[in-house]
Amino acid sequence: MYETNYHRPKDLAEAQSLFASAAEGRYLAGGMTLLPTMKQRLAAPSDLVDLGRLEALKGIAVTTDTVTIGAAVTHAEVAGSSEIQAALPALSALAGQIGDPHVRHRGTIGGSLANNDPAADYPAAVLALGATLRTTQRELAAEDFFQGLFTTALEEGEILVSVSFPIPSRAAYAKFPNPASRYAMAGVFVARMQDGDVRVGVTGAGQDGVYREASFEAALAGNLTPAALDPLTVDPDGMLADLHGSAAYRANLVKVMAKRAVAAASG
Ligand SMILES: Cc1cc2nc3c(=O)[nH]c(=O)nc-3n(C[C@H](O)[C@H](O)[C@H](O)COP(=O)(O)OP(=O)(O)OC[C@H]3O[C@@H](n4cnc5c(N)ncnc54)[C@H](O)[C@@H]3O)c2cc1C
Repeated sequence: MYETNYHRPKDLAEAQSLFASAAEGRYLAGGMTLLPTMKQRLAAPSDLVDLGRLEALKGIAVTTDTVTIGAAVTHAEVAGSSEIQAALPALSALAGQIGDPHVRHRGTIGGSLANNDPAADYPAAVLALGATLRTTQRELAAEDFFQGLFTTALEEGEILVSVSFPIPSRAAYAKFPNPASRYAMAGVFVARMQDGDVRVGVTGAGQDGVYREASFEAALAGNLTPAALDPLTVDPDGMLADLHGSAAYRANLVKVMAKRAVAAASG
């Protein structure tokens, strides 16, 4: 066993100050990734700074053109929010497919994005919708936030506060889940934005984590139908390959999931 100090700060300033004074601090949200990592001895923080109860990271706000979600909002809250179901149903449906009920009631959108697992679901929506991520220091565009496997633009001690999603005119998410973990083997979020742009975010499949599939976006612009993707193939180069599936298998899955998402978005 090793000792870990647990802190429950009252606000963001205290959280950052506790983090700064720790020998090796880590923020804790729902613990759905961090605690298993600690159990496996892959992380041994001297101090855990619990963000899960901070009011500044809670809450869902919906306007006519934006959905803003606090970083400590759980997947179950996103899935169950009647406001999000009305404004951005593809996002509540995505949240409802994450893991199992335990994971959805403890895991948070902020923890998921800060962790940037290449098979996590939210990054596909954040990138496809061109969301804005607000931190204790600044605002970041989705394109600048994700920086490769398990890597984000967050700096040491910086806290993700909330995520704002522009409301698209149409959107849907289709995911092929790993049957054991429920993480995405391939997950594709397709959105037609209010200005007519079509954006496609892909998770679970790319070697560098979440990415936009430009060839699909070009084919779907002006023709948001599954048939528009028929002539295209995804290059297996750059796809993840592991015991769950080869690169060629994942490349095919990306196209199949994209067609399902387009059918759902345009139906
Ligand atoms: C069995 C299982 C199945 C799962 N299936 C899926 C799935 O199908 N799809 C999917 O997308 N995910 C899945 N997950 C992951 C789940 O979605 C969690 O949300 C994710 O692991 C993050 O957990 P958490 O919010 O509890 O964050 P924690 O584990 O507490 O923290 C994760 C990391 O983020 C940092 N962090 C947390 N909050 C902030 C913040 N506000 N600012 C800065 N840094 C922060 C922490 O320091 C830590 O490094 C699964 C997890 C498990 C255990």
